[in-house]
Amino acid sequence: MSSSESAASSQPATAPAVRAFLSLGSNLGDRRQYLKAAVDSLPDVVAVSPVYETDPVGGPEQGAYLNLVVELSTSHSPDQLLGICHRIETASDRVRDVRWGARTLDIDILWMDGVVQDSPRLTIPHPRWKERRFVLAPLRDLAPELVTEQELNLAEGTVIRVDPL
Ligand code: ATP
Ligand code: CA
Ligand code: CA
Repeated sequence: MSSSESAASSQPATAPAVRAFLSLGSNLGDRRQYLKAAVDSLPDVVAVSPVYETDPVGGPEQGAYLNLVVELSTSHSPDQLLGICHRIETASDRVRDVRWGARTLDIDILWMDGVVQDSPRLTIPHPRWKERRFVLAPLRDLAPELVTEQELNLAEGTVIRVDPL
């Protein structure tokens, strides 16, 4: 073994960076500020989509959302990423009571390149992403190869592009 090989093998192994897309939404309080703070807190962000104002899809009667998608290039595992999302939601005073109810901040993992997993704690790709125009519109802005125009047209809900973050 050469000296350069032994030096390399003594380094801690770093997982290769993976492309990931997260969906962020807010419909309580200062929606734009919650989204800004979340984007600033997330690690490894490489792109932020346009912002859309969107009608709530499902759940009880509630106000309109602001939604966007961020792209990460990250070495975090899916589970680590979910933990990070939950911590940022909690720091944004997210209260979990009514399912699909109003919230200051929701962060979902939509997609990670090469990752397919299915458990109640974490399913990737997100189980409902293709039903939702508020997810597909900003995702298509960043990664048109992941969302066809037909899928966007078939999805549910109205979305209007508003000022960027
Ligand atoms: P929806 O999942 O339909 O968008 P929601 O975002 O309102 O609904 P939450 O109450 O925020 O649902 O999350 C419930 C649980 O879903 C989380 O605690 C998490 O463990 C689990 N979950 C499963 N897959 C994912 C994923 N891809 N991204 C985020 N959370 C997920
Ligand atoms: Ca969600
Ligand atoms: Ca969620």
